[in-house]
Amino acid sequence: MNCTKCKTKAVIDLPRHNAAFCAPCFTTYARDQTAYAIKHERMFGRDDRILVAVSGGKDSLALWHVLLTLGYRADALYVDLGIPGYSAKSREKVERFAEAVARSHGAKLLIHTVQDEEGAGIKELSDLVHRPTCATCGTIKRYQFNKAAVEQDYDVMATGHNLDDEAARLLGNMLHWQEEYLDKQSPTLPASVEGFAKKVKPLYRLSERELAAYAVLNKIDYIVEECPMAKGSKMLLYKEVLNRLETESPGTKHRFYWGFLEKQAHAQPAASSMAEKDQALLHPCGICGQPTTGEICSYCKMMARAKTAGAESR
Ligand code: SF4
Ligand code: ZN
Repeated sequence: MNCTKCKTKAVIDLPRHNAAFCAPCFTTYARDQTAYAIKHERMFGRDDRILVAVSGGKDSLALWHVLLTLGYRADALYVDLGIPGYSAKSREKVERFAEAVARSHGAKLLIHTVQDEEGAGIKELSDLVHRPTCATCGTIKRYQFNKAAVEQDYDVMATGHNLDDEAARLLGNMLHWQEEYLDKQSPTLPASVEGFAKKVKPLYRLSERELAAYAVLNKIDYIVEECPMAKGSKMLLYKEVLNRLETESPGTKHRFYWGFLEKQAHAQPAASSMAEKDQALLHPCGICGQPTTGEICSYCKMMARAKTAGAESR
C-alpha cells in the first residue's frame, strides 16, 4: 500500500476517502482538514485568543497540538475532576504536554481542581446531589470553561469533539427526536449573549481512529483509557453501532453528520434571530451572574444542594 500523495510506503489507509498516507502526508491531511473546518465554519482568525478544553485524551491534546503548529494563539484549560485512579494520570499527561510542547509556542495551561474549588471530587458531589456522575461533571465543566473563557477574555473556546463523537450524538438526538439539541449541534456556536463564550469543534472532520494516528505519529503522549465513569454510556453504544456501519460501508459517519450540517445550513434561522431568541430567554444568575434561563443557574443550584446535603450528613 503506497501513499496516495507521494507514492512512498503508506502507514495508514483511509477507506472513507479511498486513500492511504505516509506519516508526513497523513499529518498534513489532518492539519488541512482542521484548517478547512476553521475557515469553512468561521471559527476564529489569526488574532483571536483560543481556550482549548483539554482532558489528557488523544483528541484534545491533538487539537492543542494542531492549533499551535498552525500558528494559532491557543492556551488550554484542564479540569481536574478528582476521579480516583484516573484524574492524576490524565493531569500528568496534560502537564507534560504543556511543558514539553505548548511552552515552546508561548502557550499556557490553566488548571481548575474540582476538589479545591467545589469542596469535593466529582463522585462525592454527584452522590450529594443525587445526580449521575456524568451529568454533574457536564454541569461543572460547562460552567468552568465558560467562566474561564469569559473572565480571561478569550475570543473562543475549542473542544476536541471528533467526527465519531458528533455522529454518535446526532444519532442519539435523532433516536429521541431531541430537536432542541439538534439546533445546537453545529461545529460553531456563536457567543449569542453577553456572558457566553463562542464554542467551536475544529476536529469534526476527523475520526477517532485518525486522531489516534495523528497523536501516535506526532509523539503525543495521551491517556489511552476512557474515563471509568463512561462505562455503559449510551454514547459508547451509538459509536459501536456506527463503527459496524462504517466497516460495511466506509464514509457512513461523515455522510451522516456532514449531510446533517448541509441540511441544517439551509434550514437554520439567521444567527441574529437565534441570538435574539437566546437573549429573550436568558438573564444573569442571581448568585454568579452567568447567563441562565432560571433565577439561579444549574451550577449554583447544584452547589447549594451539595452544601446543604454535606452539612446535613456531618
Ligand atoms: Fe465526565 Fe462522565 Fe466524561 Fe468522565 S465520562 S469525563 S465523568 S462526563
Ligand atoms: Zn450561577
